Amino acid sequence: MAEPRVFLASRNAKKLAEMQRILAEHAPGLEVVGLDDVPAYDEPVEDAPDFVGNALLKARAGWRATGLPSVADDSGLCVDALNGMPGVLSARWSGRPAGSKEGQDDRNNRLLLEQLEDVPDERRTAYFTCAVALVHGDTDEEELVVTGEMPGSVIREVRGDGGFGYDVLFVADERPGLTTAELSREDKDAISHRGRALRELGPLLAARLGAAGERA
Ligand code: IMP
Repeated sequence: MAEPRVFLASRNAKKLAEMQRILAEHAPGLEVVGLDDVPAYDEPVEDAPDFVGNALLKARAGWRATGLPSVADDSGLCVDALNGMPGVLSARWSGRPAGSKEGQDDRNNRLLLEQLEDVPDERRTAYFTCAVALVHGDTDEEELVVTGEMPGSVIREVRGDGGFGYDVLFVADERPGLTTAELSREDKDAISHRGRALRELGPLLAARLGAAGERA
């Protein structure tokens, strides 16, 4: 019998690679396909007020367009001194994304550092958060959402060349002294918001797709 297929609805290549890596370990036996493997469709505007809402919006659109069980995440950095911002605006904190993903990440990081310039070290606490939605049908019972968090703080200069986004200026409480851009991929997965959410999703996904499979 063919392996059940699951569609990961993300354009962020680095995020997608993280998700594929973690799901391969925690939901083995699933064939994971990405946006490049399915016919193009109109992706929704991420205009929900919270991470859970945006993850559901993306996963529902994926399910409707492909008929495949669809997984989508929405994630971001919440900085206490900024009342939880950038939050759902993390990807476009310095303005509408333009040019390369790396260029946008640099602009976001520079802006955040400027905004926190006068904030003392003890008040630079923040956390990454991630909501992952699975949608494999049109009813409430065929939708589920898991979440994960990674607490830490924002340092004063960028450091490291792994990861993506704000990793270069974030130090996790569980790995003091190193930014998450300086951790190995496996080490970041072990403590990250996305790692935590996907490890919870893995067995649920495997259990549901064994029964649900693809839409006929
Ligand atoms: P999304 O693609 O709408 O979920 O946007 C997520 C944004 O939050 C990314 O573009 C990054 O700026 C930030 N972000 C989320 N997860 C991470 C992470 O693991 N490391 C660094 N930045 C992240």
